[in-house]
Amino acid sequence: MDMESLGDKILAGDRRALARAITLVESARADHRAQAAQLLDHLRRIGRQAVRIGLSGTPGVGKSTFIEAFGMMLIDQGLRVAVLAVDPSSARSGGSILGDKTRMERLSRERNAFIRPSPSQTHLGGVARRTREAVSLCEAAGFDVVLIETVGVGQSETVVAEMSDLFVLLLAPAGGDELQGVKRGIMEMADLILVNKADGDLKPAAMRTCSDYTGALRLLRKRPQDPDGFPRAMMVSAHEGSGLAEAWTQMQALVDWRRENGHWDRRRAEQALYWFDQEVRQALLARLETPRARAAMAALSDRVAAGEIAPAGAAAEMLEKHLGG
Ligand code: GDP
Repeated sequence: MDMESLGDKILAGDRRALARAITLVESARADHRAQAAQLLDHLRRIGRQAVRIGLSGTPGVGKSTFIEAFGMMLIDQGLRVAVLAVDPSSARSGGSILGDKTRMERLSRERNAFIRPSPSQTHLGGVARRTREAVSLCEAAGFDVVLIETVGVGQSETVVAEMSDLFVLLLAPAGGDELQGVKRGIMEMADLILVNKADGDLKPAAMRTCSDYTGALRLLRKRPQDPDGFPRAMMVSAHEGSGLAEAWTQMQALVDWRRENGHWDRRRAEQALYWFDQEVRQALLARLETPRARAAMAALSDRVAAGEIAPAGAAAEMLEKHLGG
């Protein structure tokens, strides 16, 4: 496969070429990885940027309903929208519940939408890397907005935040006055908290939840990347479509402010460093997984267990002799 012509097709917005390239970045084969790296490097030079929006929420809060309604609204405004997912459970269940086209039927039929489920990998690091590369491919293909969906289970939110310009937390109206067990660390990542299902009987509860979070956000330390009034909590109804335009207006205001004040570029640079670090770590760990390295580990383990060699000495031997360190 010729990477240059594949790259040109992606730049021209060819969806099949995009899908093919994503399959390539999802492959674990060494020759595919090399081709993917070449392709990504070629496309990176073009420098197209989308607004990358990370979206997290526990199952049932209305993520797919929201993405469908929000995505359709953006498309009606003439924008092109890609939806990707980081699903930490996809490895176990064998299939992804996120980014599934059947969950966003109208959006999936739109010519200006592109939906791709989470890659299945054995570990989150693998899923995250593939999704991050897919985000870059979607940017090169000229999508204006890339939504990256994930579920609220800690670690996956961190990796999604590291590939997003904006991080949105979707919540459902709470019954009581508790803050739904949302961890402080997750709240600290959010730029926007959207309380969904603010309709019908749930509206009063949504208002309470929204004001609880407005209060909780005020207690957080001010971040340099935020203008006044951010992060903020708002109410939406994915069913009725209410609040969606206002949410987009707020997102755009935040994007504009961050661009004007240098935070946008700075954040992207920090993210590049984060992924560089991750790549190095993962490549090092991968070296431990080769048959030769495993055999060497096993042999050294036996000697450590028998008391013939100290753990630190065995580690040094492992690194020097078997990992080329
Ligand atoms: P996900 O698991 O986070 O993707 O949630 P879904 O989008 O599948 O929605 C879960 C349930 O909440 C479904 O029964 C939806 O119909 C319902 N739901 C989603 N958005 C809204 C909303 O804005 N208002 C109400 N009342 N229900 C909603």
